Amino acid sequence: MNISILGSTGSIGTQALEVVDDLKGIKDITVLAITGNSNVELLEAQARRYKPQIVVCADENKYSDLKVRLADTNTLVLCGQEGLNRAATLDECDMVLSSIVGFAGLVPTMKAIEAGKDIALANKETLVTAGSLFMDAVKKYGVRLLPVDSEHSAIFQSLHGGKRAELRKILLTASGGPFFGKSRDELKNITKEQALKHPNWTMGAKITIDSATLMNKGLEVIEAKWLFDVDFDDIEVLVHRESIIHSMVEFCDRSVIAQMGLPSMKHPIQYAFTYPERLFSPDESVDFAELSRLTFAKPDEDVFCCLALAKEAGKMGGIMPTVLNAANEVAVSAFLHDKIGFLEIGEYVGEVLRKYKNKLNFTLEDIIEVDRSVRMEHKI
Ligand code: NDP
Ligand code: MG
Repeated sequence: MNISILGSTGSIGTQALEVVDDLKGIKDITVLAITGNSNVELLEAQARRYKPQIVVCADENKYSDLKVRLADTNTLVLCGQEGLNRAATLDECDMVLSSIVGFAGLVPTMKAIEAGKDIALANKETLVTAGSLFMDAVKKYGVRLLPVDSEHSAIFQSLHGGKRAELRKILLTASGGPFFGKSRDELKNITKEQALKHPNWTMGAKITIDSATLMNKGLEVIEAKWLFDVDFDDIEVLVHRESIIHSMVEFCDRSVIAQMGLPSMKHPIQYAFTYPERLFSPDESVDFAELSRLTFAKPDEDVFCCLALAKEAGKMGGIMPTVLNAANEVAVSAFLHDKIGFLEIGEYVGEVLRKYKNKLNFTLEDIIEVDRSVRMEHKI
C-alpha cells in the first residue's frame, strides 16, 4: 500500500510512521509524501529515513531551508497550499492520512477525496466545518473513509456488532481532561502548563487544550454525526476517566458493544491502515485485573461550556460549526500565547457565535470565507 501523510511531523503523523515501522514484513507500506508546517529538522530526518517522492513544508518561509537540507536526495521539495494539494493527490497513492491540525487540513483532504484516495481521517475539523460537503464527496468519488480519532474508530469497530438499522445510540466516551470535577471558580487561574498536562494522552497542543475545555468532545460529537449519519440526540457523551473504553454503541435490543484497549493512537491508526484486517501489534494488552474498575459520569456542561456550544452549533448546522471552529482555533492560540485566560476560551467562542447569522446551504468557498472572516474580524 502507498500512503501520503499530511502532517507527518505532528503527534499523529509521527505515530503513523511508527506504525509503518511496526508493520514492516507484515504489511509493507510505502510512504510517498510527507508534509509539515515549519518543523524542517524533523521533515528532513523523516525524508532521509522514508525516502518519499515529495516532502512539503506548508510554511513558504521554510522552503529554501528545507530544499538546501535535502539537496543531496531525490526527494522533491514543495511548499504552501499547492505543495499540500500535490502531496494529497499523487497518482500512485492509495490512502491519505489526514493529520494536519485545524482548518488548514480541509482543502488538501477534499483534494485527496476528489482524486479518489481512501482517507484515514484524524483531522476532525474537516468534518466539523465541511461535514455535508465532505460526506457527499466521499460518496461521489467512492472512496473509503476510515476514522482515526480513537472514539470514532471505536464506534466504527463496535458497529460491526449489529446492522446499521439496529443502532439505537452512540456512547461517546471522554476522559474528562485534566480538570474533571473542578468548578468554574477553580478554573479561573489555570495556566497553559496545567492545561497542557493531559492525564491519559500525549497529543499536539491544540487538541490537548481542546480536551481540557471539552471542546474536543464537542467537535467529536459533530464528527460522529457526520461519520455515522446519526441525530445529535442519539449521541451521548459519557466521562470515562480511565480511557480504556474508547466508545460504545447501543443496539435496539439494548445490547452495548464497546471497543477497548490501552490509550494509544497507534491502534486506531494501524486499524485504518490494515482495515478490514487486524494485524499484529507490538503494543501491550489491557490488564483488567490490575485496572480493577472502570468508572463513568455525566459531563458538566455548565463548567465546560465549550461542549454545550459545540453541540448547539452542530445542531444549527450550516456555517455555524465553521464559526465555532475558527473562533476556537483563535482562542486556543491566544491562550497558548498567554493573551487570554482558560475560561475566556469558551466565553470568546460563545460571543463570536452570537455575531454570525447562519447560512444553511454553503459551498467550500463559503466556509473558507467564513473561517477567514472570523480570524480577521475577531482577532485577539
Ligand atoms: P500536532 O500539532 O501534533 O501536529 C499537527 C501537524 O500539522 C504537524 O505536522 C504540523 O506541522 C502540521 N501543521 C500545523 N499547522 C499547519 C498548517 N497551517 N498547514 C499545514 N500543516 C500544518 O497535532 P496532532 O497530531 O495532535 O493532531 C492532528 C489532527 O489529528 C488534529 O486535527 C487533531 O484534532 C486530530 N487528532 C489528534 C489526536 C492525537 O492523539 N494527537 C487524537 C485524535 C485526533 P509542524 O509540526 O511542522 O508545525
Ligand atoms: Mg478523540
